[in-house]
Amino acid sequence: MSQFWSPSVRNLSPYVPGEQPQIDNLIKLNTNEHPMGPSPRVLEAIRAATTDRLRLYPDPEATQLKNAIAKRYGLTPEQVFVGNGSDDVLNLAFFTFFRQARPLLLSDLTYGFYPVYAELHGIRTHVVPVDDEFRIQPDDYLGQAHPKAGGIIIANPNAPTGIALDLSEIERIVAGNPDVVVLVDEAYVDFGGQSAVALLDRYPNLLVSHTLSKSRSLAGLRVGYALGSAELIQGLEIVKNSTNSYPLDQLAQVGATAAIEDDAYFEAACQAVIQTREWLTDQLQALGFEVLPSSANFVFARHPEHDGAALAGWLRERAILVRHFKRDRIDQFLRITVGTSAQCQSLINALKACVRP
Ligand SMILES: *Cc1c(COP(=O)(O)O)cnc(C)c1O
Repeated sequence: MSQFWSPSVRNLSPYVPGEQPQIDNLIKLNTNEHPMGPSPRVLEAIRAATTDRLRLYPDPEATQLKNAIAKRYGLTPEQVFVGNGSDDVLNLAFFTFFRQARPLLLSDLTYGFYPVYAELHGIRTHVVPVDDEFRIQPDDYLGQAHPKAGGIIIANPNAPTGIALDLSEIERIVAGNPDVVVLVDEAYVDFGGQSAVALLDRYPNLLVSHTLSKSRSLAGLRVGYALGSAELIQGLEIVKNSTNSYPLDQLAQVGATAAIEDDAYFEAACQAVIQTREWLTDQLQALGFEVLPSSANFVFARHPEHDGAALAGWLRERAILVRHFKRDRIDQFLRITVGTSAQCQSLINALKACVRP
């Protein structure tokens, strides 16, 4: 802490991402990256754009990318906002929509960045607990259940549980809160969730965010986007253009465009992860783990006889990284990213040596 920092910075507690250690032969199942590389067309497009033209500023509107995203979802480019990873998009959305007199509603068990943005922007929050099965209950987000909301943020599928609400449940929340923005963070939706994009033409208060970091295998490129009514997107553009005109560099724009346009590769890559997830779930259950039903590219699992932190430590000693959260209610769980079949097999082998009596 320094006297030179603005007062509001002195008490911030920043988000801590999963570690990215530079160790060879590490089996890295801790930050939900895709185990396959991006579409070869992405690499080709980035290579082709690696020229002298990098001396020029990129297109501040990312027109090509917005057009590609709009086309893929049957929307207009005015309904698309792009940012430097969906964390950037979420940050701008919190600033644009949630600095209200009334509190933002969010789950007690969800993406750890949401309370950080709220604190950064001085947004009051009202925390809604998930139920005993770690599920979000839509009724808890309807008018009578809480102080009137200034906004709602929901991750669907949720992190770190992987549990998804179905479309009708999301719709009840969106329809039940017509006066405020409902932001649905669909970082993991491509692994088996139902997207709220289907609701966009009926609800001007709905904003959906996506990332290319997970299902498009591009965590290193930093591209995310939001889809919503032109009215919401315009608000985001004003705030973006008040902070950084060029959040997406030239290479990110062409790479992301190629990724969005290669649906065949994307579908196959998602299916591979889903298949491995089902195998991994069966294997963990056979070892006595309780595994929450996942619609994401990770599973959230605990063992009745083995401490979560101890298991994570055991795996770490064998060069396998998983994520463990030292938080109330979930400190016995491991969040395990679905890797390649071989990586998941190694994980199971390591666990067998530990949990078998
Ligand atoms: C990974 C993740 C993000 C962030 O994605 P980036 O685009 O890499 O910034 C956002 N929300 C949730 C729930 C995530 O798990």
